[in-house]
Amino acid sequence: MTQHFDLISLGGGSGGLATARRASRYGARSAIIEAARLGGTCVNVGCVPKKVMWMAANRAEDIRHAPDYGIHPGEAEFDWSELHARREAYIRRLNGIYARNLERDQVAHIEGYGRFIDAHTLEVNGERYTADHIVIATGGRPLVPDIPGAELGIDSDGFFALDRQPKKAAVIGAGYIAVELAGVLHHLGTDTSLILRRDKPLRGFDETIRDGFMEVAQADALHVVSHFNTAKLERADDGTVTLHSEDGRTLGGYDTVIWAVGRVSNTRDIGLDKAGVDVRENGDIPVDDFQRTNVDGVYAIGDITGRFPLTPVAIAAGRRLADRLFGGMPERRLVYENIPTVVFSHPPIGTVGLSEAEARAKYGDVVKVYQTAFIPMDYALSDEKRRTIMKLVCVGEDERIVGCHMLGAHSDEMLQGFAVAVKMGARKRDFDDTVAIHPTAAEELVTMV
Ligand code: NDP
Repeated sequence: MTQHFDLISLGGGSGGLATARRASRYGARSAIIEAARLGGTCVNVGCVPKKVMWMAANRAEDIRHAPDYGIHPGEAEFDWSELHARREAYIRRLNGIYARNLERDQVAHIEGYGRFIDAHTLEVNGERYTADHIVIATGGRPLVPDIPGAELGIDSDGFFALDRQPKKAAVIGAGYIAVELAGVLHHLGTDTSLILRRDKPLRGFDETIRDGFMEVAQADALHVVSHFNTAKLERADDGTVTLHSEDGRTLGGYDTVIWAVGRVSNTRDIGLDKAGVDVRENGDIPVDDFQRTNVDGVYAIGDITGRFPLTPVAIAAGRRLADRLFGGMPERRLVYENIPTVVFSHPPIGTVGLSEAEARAKYGDVVKVYQTAFIPMDYALSDEKRRTIMKLVCVGEDERIVGCHMLGAHSDEMLQGFAVAVKMGARKRDFDDTVAIHPTAAEELVTMV
């Protein structure tokens, strides 16, 4: 017998879960369909395990700097396998919490791979389920380029499966994932190279921040190889992998090569043609401002829409969709502007709003930039010094802040509050009029001249 729901989320990642749970709280009969572990990319092979690894790398750095404070912890030993096991146990606990949350919110959990039969019917393990509203939230997967020997590399999923520490690793790519994984490996003691096909990573970020990343990478002795367009991977006689560039150069001796060259949407093989849902050539599903696809009653949220593939964005879009469909808020939607984001590099990068270049392209001469670079107190007793860089991009006579960018220790935790201010339309004077908290790095953002 076909079971009917008010709403079904196809995909039990951050976005799908948030939508179904919010809908259920309004009294809607809702379900999620998920073939794998609950929580999707973020919980299982993304943000959560990444942050654990980033924190482990920070702990290692703290131990390295402990003697600066007269603390001599002795010879520190690092056991990657133990960290891996502890991290996986933590994720299993989260999977369990997610399952219990579904039960508590009375969301049906349909386990299996779902495919559209028509615009309102999905099939899972031979059973059929219908819904008035179907939300496609199937997320994405890592992209591996189609070049000879590509299979000798692993992707970010493979990185999180590693239960032994690589000795020598190449991370190929230039986005968040490449920068984050290269940083974690390097700071945990793996001989790491970040392989870029252009000059710098993080295209689209403010140039000052990108330059700051290159400066800190050099100071940290992370190998950043620019202008190396990988054309082939080859297994050497000693079992290691060699990278060949398009222009004939080679880099070799890697026991681990990680592809981090982007992600693609999981839109193939879910029967979108049967539902009549439009898909872009790259696999993304186009949606309007209200997450609607071209088919009535079918919506898409999260990474598959190709807009800001970030967990909190998928959650926010999904919750607002449920508010609109079942909560009596007909205009409720996510506005994709001023979305704060952090790259968990070493040190982290925080950014919200427009880069200086974007602001100048949009507003021309009325852009004014405030910028500072300083050594934070974290390095006061250390011989090593790493600069923190901050930048405010303002427009107009009243200097409305349209961009806030930082690279440096604690940027990850600093940004959220400043993002609220930017979202509220703060002016530079509002920052100036805010009393500084001393001694912190954050105070520099309200004392810039
Ligand atoms: P991105 O799309 O951000 O970056 C991939 C980059 O790799 C490309 O922009 C390109 O940069 C470079 N690249 C592409 N092909 C090649 C190639 N063949 N060889 C070398 N470099 C190549 O992808 P990611 O997979 O890093 O991340 C996907 C998304 O996931 C991010 O956009 C982000 O939204 C999200 N994410 C967020 C995190 C966070 O919030 N902390 C963490 C991880 C992911 P170029 O053209 O400049 O060379």
